[in-house]
Amino acid sequence: VTDWQGKNVTVAGLGVSGVPAATVLHGLGARVTVVNDGDDPRAREQAAGLRALGVTVRLGDGDTLPEGTELVVTAPGWRPDKPLFTAAAEAGVPVWGDVELAWRLRGRDGREAAPWLCVTGTNGKTTTTQMLASILKAAGLRTAAVGNIGVSLLDAVLGDEPYDVLAVELSSYQLHWAPSLRAHSAVVLNLAPDHLDWHGSMEAYAKDKGRVYEGNRVACVYNTADKATEDLVRAADVEEGCRAIGFTLGTPGPSQLGVVDGILVDRAFVENRQKNAQELAEVSDVNPPAPHNIANALAAAALARAYGVPAQAVRDGLRAFTPDAHRIAHVADVDGVAYVDDSKATNTHAAEASLAAYESIVWIAGGLAKGATFDELVARSAKRLRGVVLIGADRALIREALARHAPEVPVVDLDRTDTGAMLAAVQEARRLAGAGDTVLLAPACASMDMFVNYNQRGDAFAQAVRELGAGA
Ligand code: ADP
Repeated sequence: VTDWQGKNVTVAGLGVSGVPAATVLHGLGARVTVVNDGDDPRAREQAAGLRALGVTVRLGDGDTLPEGTELVVTAPGWRPDKPLFTAAAEAGVPVWGDVELAWRLRGRDGREAAPWLCVTGTNGKTTTTQMLASILKAAGLRTAAVGNIGVSLLDAVLGDEPYDVLAVELSSYQLHWAPSLRAHSAVVLNLAPDHLDWHGSMEAYAKDKGRVYEGNRVACVYNTADKATEDLVRAADVEEGCRAIGFTLGTPGPSQLGVVDGILVDRAFVENRQKNAQELAEVSDVNPPAPHNIANALAAAALARAYGVPAQAVRDGLRAFTPDAHRIAHVADVDGVAYVDDSKATNTHAAEASLAAYESIVWIAGGLAKGATFDELVARSAKRLRGVVLIGADRALIREALARHAPEVPVVDLDRTDTGAMLAAVQEARRLAGAGDTVLLAPACASMDMFVNYNQRGDAFAQAVRELGAGA
C-alpha cells in the first residue's frame, strides 16, 4: 500500500482521466503537479478548477519533468516516446496510467476489491464488455461496464457503489501503462494493425495487448480464428490452474466455446448432448447476429462462465443487450436501399467485418488512415462492392487499392471536407445503389479530418439519409 502523504506526483495531461486522477491523488494527500501540452480555453478552465483545490498546474509544457517527481500518472493517450517519459525513465521514476492507478487504489476503503474481467482487442471491445456486463447483471451480480467506456475505473473502485465484479474494457494504450494489473480472466478478441504510429510497431502493439493476460487467475480467453491471440496466451505468465479457453464460430474443440446448429454452446454440450448439457444461447439472441458479433458474444460468454455464472444468464444477458449507436445501426430504407451506419469502423479490420455482413454494398469510406494500408481489405471485399464513394483526407490510399483489386467497381472520389460533404456522399451512394443493396458507412479510417469524432460522422450520415428520405 502506497503512502500518498506528501508524495510528489506529476499527472500528465488534463482531460477525462487527468482531472479525476489529480483530484483523487490530491485528496489522498499527495503533492500533485499537472503538466499539460495545451493552453487552450478548455485547459484553462480545468486548470482553474484544480488550482482552487490546491493542485499545481503547468499549461503549455507537457515535456519537462517537474523537479522532485516521484511518480508520473499519465493520460493513456500520451505517446511513450514523449520526452517526459524519457526523462522519467532516466530519473528512475515509475509511470502509471489511469488503469494502473485504479488498480493500485482498489480495496483502499477496506472493502474487498471486486475482481476484474478484462476485454481488449483491436475491435469489438465496447460491444463485448457491454454484453459481458449484461450477462453478469442477468445473473444477479452487481456490476458495471467500466474503463474505456461508461463509468471510469477510478469511480468504480473508489465510488460508493458496491460491485461484485467489474466488466473492464481496456485499450492498448491503457495496458501499456498498467504493469501490475492482474485480472481474474481476460480476452484479446482479435489483433490487427491499428494505432501503430503510437506503439511504434505491430510487435509492440501486440505486446501491450498481451499484458491483459499477465497474472490471470482463472481464464485466458482467445480467438481460435486469430492465432496471434493464442500466441499471446502462451507467452503470458499466469497463475497456476488458469485455463486457456478458445472461442470459434464452428464446432468447439476441447476447452472451447462455439456454435452448433445455430446454438452457442461449450464443449461439454458437444460431448454430452444426450445428457441434457445446457446450451448458452441461440444465434438469434445476438444483436445484430453478424458473424463478428457472434464472436463477441462467445467471448463475453466465456468470461462470464469463467466467473461462474449459469448458462441461463448468458441467454438472458444477450437478449437484454442492445448495441451502442454507430455500430452497424440500420438508419432507414429509402427506395428499397438499406442505409447502415457503422461509423465506429475506424480501422480496416472493423470495416472488413461489417462489409462481410452484407452482399451487395455501396461503400462510403475514407478519413484518416493512421498509417494503414487497404489492399487486403479491398481484395477481400471486392466481390461485394457495387460501388464506392470516397471522402476524407487519405481517400487516395483507398482509391489506389481499389484500382489494384477491384478495377471494375465504380468509384466516386469526393474531394470535399466541408460540412455538406456527407450529404453529397450519401447522394452519390444513392445514385450507385440499386434495390436490395446496402449503403454502408464503414470508413475504415478515423474521422478527425472532417468531424469531431465518429459519433458526429455517424450523425451526419443519418441526417443525410433522412434528407434523402424526405426528398424521395
Ligand atoms: P471497440 O470498442 O474495440 O472499438 P466496438 O465494439 O465499439 O469496438 O466496435 C467497433 C467496430 O468494430 C464495430 O462498429 C464493427 O465495425 C467492428 N467490430 C465489432 N466487433 C468486431 C469483431 N469481433 N471483429 C471485427 N470487427 C468488429
